[in-house]
Amino acid sequence: MAERIARTEAARAWADGFAEKYMDDDSVVAFQWKLASRHPKFNICDLYAEANLYGLGKGIYPKNATPRLPVHPHCLCHLAPVYRSELKGKKAVDQLEEGGRAWLEKQSLYHRQQILGIAGCKSYERGADWRTMARNYSPKVMQSRTKHDIIKASGALNPFSNRATEHAVRYYEEIRHRKTDAIRIAQNTGFRAQDIQAIKDYIFVEEHDLVDGHRRFYEDYEMAQSWQRLIEG
Ligand SMILES: [Zn+2]
Repeated sequence: MAERIARTEAARAWADGFAEKYMDDDSVVAFQWKLASRHPKFNICDLYAEANLYGLGKGIYPKNATPRLPVHPHCLCHLAPVYRSELKGKKAVDQLEEGGRAWLEKQSLYHRQQILGIAGCKSYERGADWRTMARNYSPKVMQSRTKHDIIKASGALNPFSNRATEHAVRYYEEIRHRKTDAIRIAQNTGFRAQDIQAIKDYIFVEEHDLVDGHRRFYEDYEMAQSWQRLIEG
């Protein structure tokens, strides 16, 4: 469970780094979805990588309409920058519903069911929008993090600085009193709230046998940042 969260968090960190590098680079106008080579099973990521949802080509998204990674736990998909010159003047059009449908039509019933579910597939066949049934579909899109990056907002860029430590101590104390964070994280990650609560207790509340005695874990700035990102989704 903790490993799963750590991996999801690593994927998120990769996406944040990618966004930081390319969101504000004007020569990059779109992103291409790259399916992970060790893709666990057929799912919405296959659609994201292969459907033409914006008329720019298979798996190509205008930057600010790119689905936010990771899409699901264990999602190892990546993105690649697409430069203005590569699109040769193509204009992005919102054809999510039709583009997704065109791609779904070409899949086997079994694969469609893996994305839409069996009941979802029936509604889809009756003409419902695939987005209302697709598992792990979320309208959340990539955004530049520079505006609301809490690392910058807290003013403590170096995780080993005194300010970072002070921030972590305050944050840990605040988190121990917070009542809604486990529920928020559960909603954002798809885990059960009681599992998230158990992790929270382990990390922030309970005492452990550490080298210098039985005590809580030391406040860790990066852990605080991770938890906050999980809350923000
Ligand atoms: Zn994926």
